[in-house]
Amino acid sequence: MKQLTNSLIELITQTSTNLPPDVRAAMGLALETETSGTQAAQALGIIASNIDMAQQDAGPICQDTGMPTFIVHTPVGVNQLHVKRAIREAVAEATRRGKLRPNSVDSLTGKNSGDNLGDETPVIHFEQWEEDDIEVKLILKGGGCENKNIQYSVPCELEHLGRADRNLEGVRKCILHAVWQAQGQGCAPGAVGVCIGSDRAHGYVLAKNQLFRTLDDVNPVPELAKLEAEIMEEANRIGVGAMGFGGKVSLIGCKIAAANRLPACYFVSVAYDCWAFRRLGVRLDAGSGQITRWLYRDPEREVVRMAKTEGFPLTGREVVLTAPLSEDAVRSLRVGDVVLISGEVYTGRDAVHAYLMKNAPPVDLRGAVLYHCGPVMLKEGSGWVVKAAGPTTSSREEPYQATVIERYGVRAVIGKGGMGQKTLAALQKSGAVYLNAIGGAAQFYARTVEKVVDVHLLDFGIPEAMWRLRVNKFAAIVTMDAHGNSLHADVEQETAAKLAELQKV
Ligand code: SF4
Repeated sequence: MKQLTNSLIELITQTSTNLPPDVRAAMGLALETETSGTQAAQALGIIASNIDMAQQDAGPICQDTGMPTFIVHTPVGVNQLHVKRAIREAVAEATRRGKLRPNSVDSLTGKNSGDNLGDETPVIHFEQWEEDDIEVKLILKGGGCENKNIQYSVPCELEHLGRADRNLEGVRKCILHAVWQAQGQGCAPGAVGVCIGSDRAHGYVLAKNQLFRTLDDVNPVPELAKLEAEIMEEANRIGVGAMGFGGKVSLIGCKIAAANRLPACYFVSVAYDCWAFRRLGVRLDAGSGQITRWLYRDPEREVVRMAKTEGFPLTGREVVLTAPLSEDAVRSLRVGDVVLISGEVYTGRDAVHAYLMKNAPPVDLRGAVLYHCGPVMLKEGSGWVVKAAGPTTSSREEPYQATVIERYGVRAVIGKGGMGQKTLAALQKSGAVYLNAIGGAAQFYARTVEKVVDVHLLDFGIPEAMWRLRVNKFAAIVTMDAHGNSLHADVEQETAAKLAELQKV
């Protein structure tokens, strides 16, 4: 049991910290393809550095290590309860070591279990097979991209694409729409796993299963292989680009399966995964629990460095800001400016925003920088250390953000994926900005944290607490300014026009 648990801890650690070669290759191609000097290229450069940093330090690639989902095949005679216990122990231990963020929240009480164990977490699917080894595959898919999963009941009307019928042309439209609707919120460039058919619940399972295929494989069903190739070409013409900044690379993979359906139903289920596509697997000796082989990677092959340059290439045109921020400094910023923030920032996401609607903040937020971030933190002695600290999807805070800005005097909000019209109006009225950090770049941003000064509202759990961090040169891009401009609204409009061009027939 001990060896089995250790092997599974190694699987979790490698999955969380070291992207598989097929994903590295796809991201390498994205880097080469994107037009240099653009915001999308800058984002891809940070992502590449982040991938290297995570592998070097065995730190989580992204702070959101998602819902650990295991697919396990066991030979007849192996006790699956025993394997399940080992998986649960490994998950708890990997969480203690800071390789997984505590992500399991009781849906009734809101309490975080702290160790990633709870009702139905982690997710484990067992199957028997006729091989001698145990096979365990693992995917870590975070909440930002999980929220961009989408299911279509065809026939249906799609924005900018018209009617999708019950045929492969209708499926094509659904998939293109799925890529478009994700914009930057699922940390594009992403990959989609798709299921045509089945029922609502199983369709999503089968769509997610497609993400266990390598990005460079070819679908054995000729019609689906053709559709996958077509989608790859067309989706990358829509122009969402890395982080939704606009650009040439929006999709790094499209994998489609078809399953039988009920006569009355025709679902197209899409599982959207982000660039931080963390999926690995191992074969284990059924007797000893030792790893006999890695899946998706060749241990003989050296891990190639992704980044072309060290860190974030500065141009000298960056705007240097020190928090707390003045209204004048903030009003002088324009969409497209790159800022380097030093000083103290406060994290706050879903639970903090809901709290601030009814309660005064535990700190003075006048002039403050509020960071939408749920970090991975480890207690060391009497203090805390940051293990991963990238931005979370900001759109979830749209119902609260305007009130928080206006009521408490927040001057800058850092997040990813942008926010809506209500927040944009509040930025203009109060003199505040929205800064887009690079989603998933959790190691890159963790290195800007000089000190964890304090923590408030820790009862909400580590990801949801309000962390007071002292940062040095935290790089982000102004994507919504105090003059009513929003890069996100512009890109959405431009990409909608390109999507409409793909309507054909
Ligand atoms: S890269 Fe983005 S979408 Fe993916 S897990 Fe991280 S924050 Fe979520």
